[in-house]
Amino acid sequence: MNLDLTTEDSEFRSQVRAFLRDNLTEELADAGRLVTSVFIEPQFSLPWQKILHAQGWAAPAWPVEYGGTGWSEMQRYIFASECARAGAPSLSPMGLAMVGPCIIGHGTPEQKAYYLPRILAGEDYWCQGYSEPGSGSDLASLSLKATSDGDDYILNGTKIWTTHAHHANMMFCLVRTRFDGKPQEGITFLLLDMTLPGIKVDPIITLAGEHEVNQVFFDDVRVPKAGRLGAENDGWTVAKYLLEFERGGGSSAGLEASVGRIRALAQRDGLLASDPGFTSRLAAAEIGLEAIKITEQRVSSALSSGGNPGPAASMLKVQRTEMMQRIDTLGVEAGGTYACVEQLDARQPGSNIDAVGPSDRVTLVPRYLNNRAASIYGGSNEVQRNIMAKMVLGL
Ligand SMILES: Cc1cc2nc3c(=O)[nH]c(=O)nc-3n(C[C@H](O)[C@H](O)[C@H](O)COP(=O)(O)OP(=O)(O)OC[C@H]3O[C@@H](n4cnc5c(N)ncnc54)[C@H](O)[C@@H]3O)c2cc1C
Repeated sequence: MNLDLTTEDSEFRSQVRAFLRDNLTEELADAGRLVTSVFIEPQFSLPWQKILHAQGWAAPAWPVEYGGTGWSEMQRYIFASECARAGAPSLSPMGLAMVGPCIIGHGTPEQKAYYLPRILAGEDYWCQGYSEPGSGSDLASLSLKATSDGDDYILNGTKIWTTHAHHANMMFCLVRTRFDGKPQEGITFLLLDMTLPGIKVDPIITLAGEHEVNQVFFDDVRVPKAGRLGAENDGWTVAKYLLEFERGGGSSAGLEASVGRIRALAQRDGLLASDPGFTSRLAAAEIGLEAIKITEQRVSSALSSGGNPGPAASMLKVQRTEMMQRIDTLGVEAGGTYACVEQLDARQPGSNIDAVGPSDRVTLVPRYLNNRAASIYGGSNEVQRNIMAKMVLGL
């Protein structure tokens, strides 16, 4: 695969750069650069999504008929990479990168017409109700009960680790509609409104002191059947399809931008830049990233023609998250004395970062700590290796 830019690609890059220069405010760029969590807060991601949507650029990977851009894989990579370089806030993947493609693949014409424009415009903010206490890796054992009652299901049970449920007005949710037979054959996929009576969201505060994940309780919650995606008891097919987008969507452009910042940081410090151990580890990470980039482009071409990532999603999930953790380790090394936990408070946009050190160092340790979770969420890397053994190697 040729990763060199053609003249058209260079022109496209100039166009993206000009757009970012004109539209990405300092406040949004600060928020994008200083984020250390799984997702950036919607107070920053949604305004940026609205700006992109006005330009028609909110969902580059969607098929054109649903609001995609029709860009080539290289153009999509250039866009992601320029956004990461400029510090643009990343958009929440739950709507645009996860449930959106799933609605495109499995929704009725009415569901597509209603939800897709709202997802593009950022009118709905989504969370993912898959995991339950005791049902994480063994997701098919989930037990949130949905009892059929006329045009509705009545839900009772709980979901856990629900990222940004406290911000979301919509959830895509796996429920149990049948308790006998194979566990996978009794699951249904629902799109539900988080403001329905009987839903309670309790915060879970992480070791880093942050509120990102939650436990969500359902007590006789009446959900219209019109929100069901796919057939009753066939939710496992839809759930797996969505997981391929969760694991295989996105890009490593943010990682590339991080490596660039670490290289610049090491060069400023002088000593590290001439340390052969550090420089060879950094170079190895850069080479690994090139390989990931090529795999992403292969997957990305399947997405733009309306397909799904397939088992390559598991490979990408493992490669990206392990690379992310390698890069975080290099970052802490390069950050040296500035990369200390006491600087957590300085991450807030608008705070006086220069009082404690350059902004690129402030996030190094919190990012390192938070990204330990990356090899767990979205399905642990051990489980992804099991999937690859079965689906790719046929073991
Ligand atoms: C920060 C964060 C955000 C999250 N956000 C969401 C969210 O928004 N929505 C949601 O639904 N879920 C979310 N999750 C949950 C996440 O998907 C689960 O944590 C994950 O699937 C693992 O499940 P578990 O925590 O129950 O661990 P377990 O399944 O109990 O696994 C424990 C350990 O055993 C290993 N293991 C388990 N089974 C096997 C096996 N068969 N072979 C080899 N090793 C195995 C695992 O790899 C892991 O190391 C989030 C998790 C985190 C950490």
